[in-house]
Amino acid sequence: MANINLEKKSGLVITLMLTALFSLSGQVTNSNTTDMENLSTKEFPALPYAYDALEPYLDARTMEIHYDKHHRAYFNNYVAAIKGTAYENMPLGKVFSEISKAGDPIKNNGGGYYNHVFFWRILGKGSAGPSPELSAAIEKAFGSFDKFKETFSNAAKTRFGSGWAWLVVAADKALAVGSTPNQDNPLMDISPLKGTPILTIDVWEHAYYLKYQNKRADYVEAFWNVVNWNEVNKLYKEALK
Ligand code: MN
Repeated sequence: MANINLEKKSGLVITLMLTALFSLSGQVTNSNTTDMENLSTKEFPALPYAYDALEPYLDARTMEIHYDKHHRAYFNNYVAAIKGTAYENMPLGKVFSEISKAGDPIKNNGGGYYNHVFFWRILGKGSAGPSPELSAAIEKAFGSFDKFKETFSNAAKTRFGSGWAWLVVAADKALAVGSTPNQDNPLMDISPLKGTPILTIDVWEHAYYLKYQNKRADYVEAFWNVVNWNEVNKLYKEALK
């Protein structure tokens, strides 16, 4: 009897532990599906993994400087720029939709804040690839996955100076690839490329210079090893809503 009770108790403990685990993983999922356009300006978001998580493709030293210096400075400068203005409590997506009126400090630092949170989110190792739905959309828009990869890589490689390449879901729900200069993004009213971003690459030299120096093409090629398709698939699904 004692043994049975013990087993029952262990069973209960295991059940409780599993419940805790599942609710914990549920919380992680929820934080991943944060509405990007409502990013908080109250707290600088944590990097979702360790600095060395994307080695050897993106090295730890670059990740540390990129996140802790560059990204943090955009966040701090954005918070300072909106303080006491009409933009102070405005969701980021709304600010971007009328960015032409906001001035350069809000545009550059707001873009720098959002773009990097987005970039960290779509990076990660070990995902399987595009979902069947996203694969079908990629084939429809670009002919094949390889053609898409080539188009996106070319947008990244040919962006003159600093900027970003993007895969977006356009207003007609079709996929499109393009690039933006500086810290502009496809949510901004000034951007010729418009849509909901689902994938991006930072092609500022600070994103790759320590490891790749002037060889941006090698960095772009390495990037494909650390795309977190689980997140891209999620973003695609959200963008279709
Ligand atoms: Mn950057």
